[in-house]
Amino acid sequence: MSLLAVGTVAFDDIETPFGRAERVIGGAATYITLAASYFTDNLKIVSVVGDDFPKEELSYLESRGVNLEGLQVKAGEKSFFWAGRYHDNLNDRDTLDTQLNVLADFHPVLPDSYKSPAYLMLGNLTPAVQKAVIEQLEERPKFIALDTMNFWMDTAMESLLDVLKHIDGLIINDEEARQLSGEHSLVKAADVIHDMGPKYVVIKKGEHGALLFEGGRVFFAPALPLAEVYDPTGAGDTFAGGFMGYIARTDDLSFENMKRAVIYGSAMASFCVEKFSVERLKELSNKEINKRIAQFVELVNFDADIEL
Ligand code: AMP
Repeated sequence: MSLLAVGTVAFDDIETPFGRAERVIGGAATYITLAASYFTDNLKIVSVVGDDFPKEELSYLESRGVNLEGLQVKAGEKSFFWAGRYHDNLNDRDTLDTQLNVLADFHPVLPDSYKSPAYLMLGNLTPAVQKAVIEQLEERPKFIALDTMNFWMDTAMESLLDVLKHIDGLIINDEEARQLSGEHSLVKAADVIHDMGPKYVVIKKGEHGALLFEGGRVFFAPALPLAEVYDPTGAGDTFAGGFMGYIARTDDLSFENMKRAVIYGSAMASFCVEKFSVERLKELSNKEINKRIAQFVELVNFDADIEL
């Protein structure tokens, strides 16, 4: 099934306790499409870059089956730039710089072939752009998921609340869920967010896994305990790409399948953090992915030894 992904395609400066990387490839849509490309070859992207963005990186996305017709390249302009620094606790990071550049005045234009995707992943970028994409669709996708971050809650809360009314699933991290809902408890936060629109709420907790809430049901997926984590950048987007890629592949919106999708998202995120930038996502094989899924099964599998 087809998956349309929207989000930033960017340059990042990253500082972690293990090193620095300057002007590496990043952006929500980059991570989402790379992760999803392991599950579906019917992938389209809506985004914008300046003419400073390396052509070979765009060709690479194409070589992974990503249709780039909806990616605008703005002559004489600079790509979105983000800089972040991680603390020793890699769940904590500071944004050092966000330069919107091309994103400041971005009006997405959906090619005709993009107007009826089966699935839509609205990755992190301006909420008004996320809404503009929904408005251009000719048919409502079977499932619309959205990711956002504190930056947009601080600068564009009203339009974020507006777009939330039109989606099915929100995928955010724990701090963002607390900021959005005003609730500390994630259970209460999910309830408040359900009332804002999304029927499904996925709350990512970094190295502590992810929770899926729907209609009073909860599922928890652990994060795989990893010996080496170099760079958590993009883990959230990679999770979203794996989650939606798996749903697009299976075309099954039952809660049982959503649970599997959360595990696939977590598995893809566990690869992402093993190297800087998108490097690890470029070199995966289906065999490696399957092996990692098996590790997740092993991690949570136990015999309860009780009678109910
Ligand atoms: P994550 O670690 O999953 O939150 O995603 C990090 C990626 O998001 C980086 O590659 C950045 O380029 C991108 N990013 C950072 N800030 C923003 C923002 N305000 N809007 C959209 N994308 C962003």
